[in-house]
Amino acid sequence: MKKLYIESIAEKKIKKGIQLLDGRDFPDLEVTDDLVLLYSQKSSQFLGTAYLSKQNKGVGWLISRQEVTLNQVYFENLLKKAKAKRQQFRESDLTTAYRVFNQDGDNFGGFTIDLYNDFALFSWYNTYIYEYKELILDAFKAVFPEILGAYEKIRFKGLDYESAFIYGKEAPETFTILENGVSYEVFLNDGLMTGIFLDQHEVRDSLVNGLALGKSVLNMFSYTAAFSVAAAMGGASETTSVDLAKRSVELSQAHFRANGFDLENHKFMVMDVFDYYRYAKRHGLTYDVIVIDPPSFARNKKQTFSVAKDYHKLIAQALEILSPKGTIIASTNASNLTIKQFEKQLEKGFGQVKHTYLDLKQLPSDFTVNKKDESSNYLKVFTIRVNK
Ligand code: SAH
Repeated sequence: MKKLYIESIAEKKIKKGIQLLDGRDFPDLEVTDDLVLLYSQKSSQFLGTAYLSKQNKGVGWLISRQEVTLNQVYFENLLKKAKAKRQQFRESDLTTAYRVFNQDGDNFGGFTIDLYNDFALFSWYNTYIYEYKELILDAFKAVFPEILGAYEKIRFKGLDYESAFIYGKEAPETFTILENGVSYEVFLNDGLMTGIFLDQHEVRDSLVNGLALGKSVLNMFSYTAAFSVAAAMGGASETTSVDLAKRSVELSQAHFRANGFDLENHKFMVMDVFDYYRYAKRHGLTYDVIVIDPPSFARNKKQTFSVAKDYHKLIAQALEILSPKGTIIASTNASNLTIKQFEKQLEKGFGQVKHTYLDLKQLPSDFTVNKKDESSNYLKVFTIRVNK
């Protein structure tokens, strides 16, 4: 196996338990889609086995502090451990969709596996792991014989498709999963999205279980309005879901219908969120709960939006249409933003307005994280009571 002698900054991170190899720590590295043995440049100490492959985040992953061989048994062992950790999810009748393998949280970065009822969804994040696809699928079939069929999403550049059926029985084009007793309509083979972001289980739970009771709820960047459906299940008096994408309305209504809800008190607006803030102000609309969950980065016809620089504007605008003693749920999935930096954005938005942080939710337990690497716990969701 190839040996790679690494600089002390990368060595320190590995010793700390970080598995993602950050390109900035490997200035002259040729990223060759190889398995390599890492050694300290300074002391020649053996540091572990890694693979090199370019992806959206990083240039590869440390996979073990030992020297290892990647074969079917290696992946079976990883998958068995991952499966055992999710026993609670597997036994639940109320939640039938969850993540069962999560990159470095399950000791192997570069791919994830989600279950949607009896079907599996693999996501591949780089070309190296994709070469191991057949081996990983064989290991998966051995550890999860109960799964009927599987799909994949390609999350790296270079292939001419991003979604495909891979084995077994095909899933219906759309079907219903359960989360905490609420139904959501999903699809496994239509682009990269599936109709629900599973990492928000706990935020939806909080809307089902108390936060939304008797409240009017505004859901900004609503996609398929999953937060609105959770709020409706939790007794919201009305919900409004705002998203730029036209298709979001049809998908949102599908979630509502899956639960037998009447759509009368649930509105869907195809609009830019900043335009909606203006519209609501002009019409004197106010909301008791405002959920804000933007993409990390977005480009609209007029402007670009980045969570790191512009989140404060979403808060400041929300305050103008929030009921007295209302609640803001401020979410971001930006992994490049620390909790502190996110809080700073929020504080800038609140300015002089009094508020209390009720809680911070991060990734739920099925999205196991590498506890040694804050950036692997990318989700940050503050629930904030405003005292205006
Ligand atoms: N909150 C959603 C996920 C949001 S994904 C959920 O829980 O399922 C981000 C969404 O933001 C996308 O659906 C995208 O269409 C929408 N979006 C991006 N920029 C926007 C803008 N300026 N105004 C409104 N929606 C926007």
